[in-house]
Amino acid sequence: MTASTCDAIIIGGGLHGLSTAIHLAEAGVRAVVVEKDHPGRHASGVNAGGVRRLGRHLAEVPLSVAAREIWEDIEDFVSDDCGFTACGHIQIAETESELAQQADRVDQLQALGFAHEQLIDKASLREIVPALAHHCLGAIWCADDGAANPYRTTQAYFRTAQALGVRVELGAAVTAIERLGGDWQVSAAGQNFQAPVLVNTAGAWGHQVCRMIGDDAQVEPAALMLMITERVAPFITPVLGAVGRKLSFKQYGNGTVMIGGGQRGRALPERNIAETKLAGMGNSAVTVKALFPQLGPVNVVRCWAGIEAMMPDGVPVIGPSRAVKGAYHAFGFCGHGFQLSPIVGRLLAELITTGQASLPIEAFSIDRFDVLPANGSIG
Ligand SMILES: Cc1cc2nc3c(=O)[nH]c(=O)nc-3n(C[C@H](O)[C@H](O)[C@H](O)COP(=O)(O)OP(=O)(O)OC[C@H]3O[C@@H](n4cnc5c(N)ncnc54)[C@H](O)[C@@H]3O)c2cc1C
Repeated sequence: MTASTCDAIIIGGGLHGLSTAIHLAEAGVRAVVVEKDHPGRHASGVNAGGVRRLGRHLAEVPLSVAAREIWEDIEDFVSDDCGFTACGHIQIAETESELAQQADRVDQLQALGFAHEQLIDKASLREIVPALAHHCLGAIWCADDGAANPYRTTQAYFRTAQALGVRVELGAAVTAIERLGGDWQVSAAGQNFQAPVLVNTAGAWGHQVCRMIGDDAQVEPAALMLMITERVAPFITPVLGAVGRKLSFKQYGNGTVMIGGGQRGRALPERNIAETKLAGMGNSAVTVKALFPQLGPVNVVRCWAGIEAMMPDGVPVIGPSRAVKGAYHAFGFCGHGFQLSPIVGRLLAELITTGQASLPIEAFSIDRFDVLPANGSIG
């Protein structure tokens, strides 16, 4: 069978694959994106839409700050505002020791030259979130963080990639990857694609692609859950999280409240699905009620889970393959890759076209994992 040739093959058409394709196209590199389902089918389309720098792992801060600059003018990047609003993110402290922990964090960031996280006292916290329970003592406040609409964002990335001439193959699961001289040959849905560059942005399936080329990484596919309530009177503007609780929630302009923050369902990546677990949802609802006691009974109208790639050390893999030349990875975003998507694609495109990324990415190297023998195919 003859192969379609191009400059780069990108496996995975979520936000990171599409962002990479857009940045490569802008640099004159012709990419094909090979996607087993459709853009937005998995984590990229079903996440909470948090555009958050607050609380990032220190290694991620420079990337997250640079990503936020792109979010400011996201329309310049993908011709759509993606529903982005700078509503602020706040992380509350409920005990003195949590507050002390937050003060250390802010000092640490300031010593590194970052001023986006601010420690605020009880009075300021009450000004920003008047409805919050009185026992809360203070918070870290990130006024310019925000939120966007994930499905709309993914579709905007998809349209932009196509408008720039990127071919996106849908319903095409990659089942084999071979070396042909200096090129890669990728087989998917009865077609072959050939290119000198291979990019693995396969999300929770990223480790499977790794193993096909001789790399390895310990990905744990996890089913992160979200739920939406019926409409209630406005009571909060920023996205709210807490130091001591698995919680992240936000009220939309229409009054509905989205509640999430790390409760997990059951991930079944081999069947392409994630199942919710009602007990976890119940815990999240109880937490919201503890922080906003005046909220009356509220019906949950919808809940879902999406499959996300978790890594043992909580940070993604971004960078070149350890095993082979001409292959690059960006997967394992551990529940916070939506915000990073515009910058990670840019960094990968820089690596591919110049051999260097303009921001520090050493902490995300795949070299931190042990190598297992390559198996050349999936399934
Ligand atoms: C419920 C939930 C809430 C979240 N909330 C936030 C948030 O508020 N803020 C934030 O920053 N992040 C959040 N995240 C994380 C964020 O959604 C992800 O980190 C990000 O979308 C990952 O993008 P991706 O492109 O790496 O992966 P994905 O979107 O999963 O895309 C990977 C794609 O690769 C394809 N693929 C896999 N294997 C193959 C193969 N063999 N052949 C072809 N295609 C393949 C898949 O079909 C998939 O479409 C959340 C995630 C979830 C699940």
